[in-house]
Amino acid sequence: MNAGQAHHISDANVATSVEALFKSVDAWQTGHFLLSSGLHSDQYMQCQRILQYPVHGMHLARALATKMLAAGIKPKAVVGPALGAVHLEVFMALAFNEILNAGESPITAEHHNSEHQVRAIFAERAENGQDFVIRRGIELAQGEEVIVVEDVTTTGGSAKRVVDLLTQMGAKTLAVGTIIDRSGGKAKFDQPFFSLEELNLKTYEASACPMCQAGSQPIKPGSSKK
Ligand SMILES: [Zn+2]
Repeated sequence: MNAGQAHHISDANVATSVEALFKSVDAWQTGHFLLSSGLHSDQYMQCQRILQYPVHGMHLARALATKMLAAGIKPKAVVGPALGAVHLEVFMALAFNEILNAGESPITAEHHNSEHQVRAIFAERAENGQDFVIRRGIELAQGEEVIVVEDVTTTGGSAKRVVDLLTQMGAKTLAVGTIIDRSGGKAKFDQPFFSLEELNLKTYEASACPMCQAGSQPIKPGSSKK
């Protein structure tokens, strides 16, 4: 990618521009991938290639937050499964703070009062590698209204586990949000589900993967250096 290349996308046409933005930073990759859901695919959306640029990240987050606010979703905290959502959850919380405080001076005592800020919280994997936990002294009030975000939704399994955790902790999940829903409509939640872009990208069980059958080995993109 060209260092000086601009990737500005207009709010008017977010859906097609999300694709263009992904392609422009080579975040939409082809190969043979082992997804975090355990499924194999010949396509991978490496969101972190976009989210490494906070300007891009904030642009996507504002679009998603605007969509959620228009549906009456007004969270007190944004929670995401680590590591995939650690940037996104901050961008989303900032976007909500920005929009909800629009027109007001950002340097008022009220905005520095933590009660008036939308919080950004990450849930991390428990020792069993499956469940999630919220550590590091972060607390949730009983009935606190939160949303769960993840960058790309394949099956929604991680987001669902985070929703379960929040329910156990007494918080109320208002909605789930994602930049890319690549599940082809298969990811279902008990809460309203928002995405900026819906794609139907083929995934395979390992035992039925044609690329594996052709003798190729899948790579786990999150842990690869590519
Ligand atoms: Zn495979």
